[in-house]
Amino acid sequence: MLKAGQKLNVRIAYVDDEGKGIAYDKRDAIMVSGVLADEVAEVQIQKRLKQGYSARLGKIVKPSKNRCEPVCPLFLRCGSCHLQHMQMNAQADWKQAMVERMVKESSLKDLQVQNVITATNPYGYRNKIIIGFTRDKQGVHAGFYEEYSHRIVPMEDCLLHDDLSNQLIRSLIAMVKKLRIEPYQEDRKKGILRHILIRKGAVSGQIMIVLITSQSAFPARGQFVDQIRKEWPAVKTIIQNINHRSTSIVLGSEEKVLFGSGYIEDELCGNTYRISASSFYQINHEQTEVLYQKALSLLETKGNETVLDTYCGIGTIGMTLAPHVKQVVGVELNKQAVKDAIQNAKRNHVDNIRFVAEDASVYMQKLAASRQRVDVVIMDPPRSGSTHQFIQACAQLKPRAILYISCNPKTQIRDLEVFKSKGYVSDKMYLVDLFPQTNHVESISFSIFIKDALRSIFLNFNNIMNDRVYKK
Ligand code: SAH
Repeated sequence: MLKAGQKLNVRIAYVDDEGKGIAYDKRDAIMVSGVLADEVAEVQIQKRLKQGYSARLGKIVKPSKNRCEPVCPLFLRCGSCHLQHMQMNAQADWKQAMVERMVKESSLKDLQVQNVITATNPYGYRNKIIIGFTRDKQGVHAGFYEEYSHRIVPMEDCLLHDDLSNQLIRSLIAMVKKLRIEPYQEDRKKGILRHILIRKGAVSGQIMIVLITSQSAFPARGQFVDQIRKEWPAVKTIIQNINHRSTSIVLGSEEKVLFGSGYIEDELCGNTYRISASSFYQINHEQTEVLYQKALSLLETKGNETVLDTYCGIGTIGMTLAPHVKQVVGVELNKQAVKDAIQNAKRNHVDNIRFVAEDASVYMQKLAASRQRVDVVIMDPPRSGSTHQFIQACAQLKPRAILYISCNPKTQIRDLEVFKSKGYVSDKMYLVDLFPQTNHVESISFSIFIKDALRSIFLNFNNIMNDRVYKK
């Protein structure tokens, strides 16, 4: 039995999916952040967990060849990054091995995980930032959340953002303090300002600021808006979002536009998009272009396809694909995102795409019931993945192929197992690193209906045989 405060040297057996190093003391696991597989580290036991202990890293006794010096002084406190101590090529190998392990534990033994397509910019890539505000006896604090907690790590330069965004954050925090805007205190249900969300167009440079408050009335609101506009001309719109709920979801459902149009614009894969506060937009612009190009290349379109882009957001995937197919229909639950998508189609003169504001499963059930033909279904669900209802409806619709883009390979693999039971098989999984320094990775799979898959194997086989005959 180990005691809190006790120091000991451990050898790290592996780094788990959360990015935590796991060592063993007899049969008890010891979890410690900031270490790599095979390293020997001095750790200090923090507390007993259900299975094993959590520990704090003291020093590295025997470093791994994959180690690099974490660049952020808050690395071990802040919950945003998990892998800053791992060289970039080792991060890619680690992410691939993690997904391979998930595949191995599933029933999809034939699914081959391809090498990670790495990012050229491992830092400064985030175009969306959420700053939390709180107050205690010492005063107002603003910054990011400590891992697994509601405690705030005071903001210093975050290296996942560009310099300008970091300057903007500092300036906004100073304004909040100067104007004495009261942070919301969750435990006492007092105060006003919960979060500030910043979104910056990577190409356009346009900035959106969303002030998330606990109530509608907001003293000093006018002064705050005036000051932001005076000091930050790149800010094109300021929105107040009211969130009465006490959950960890940042945005509420009520919105007031305080300045500007309520959206910003950005360019992606050659199109211009308007993006509202509540609409989804990928946070790593450069790698999103890589992701979309990779995903769409798998379709090998001929130009006569009807494509259903489900979970379509503001329509970015469908609109990138539209010139290469006959028609696209985008389905999305968030009405604001659908409004953006419709405007985006007009803005880019894409006239073979339309959008439906509906639950994707319900819409597919209707299409199947009215015997409409869809050649390809694209799906890009949230982290929680898709649902049985969706997969069932998709199987009824019977597209030739399903292109699945995911930010959570675990739920994707789970869903692919269900798709397989409906006759949709996939042989490869492609990984694109949209989130360097973190334990996240974006993944793509392309499944074909089994009869088609068998036919293509047969055709390939035939071609090979013909080749042989011909060569003879
Ligand atoms: N494909 C888009 C958005 C992906 S994020 C892009 O690449 O930018 C996932 C989207 O799924 C969100 O916009 C969310 O609002 C939407 N969504 C979640 N549940 C849904 C459902 N049941 N039906 C349709 N859309 C849904």
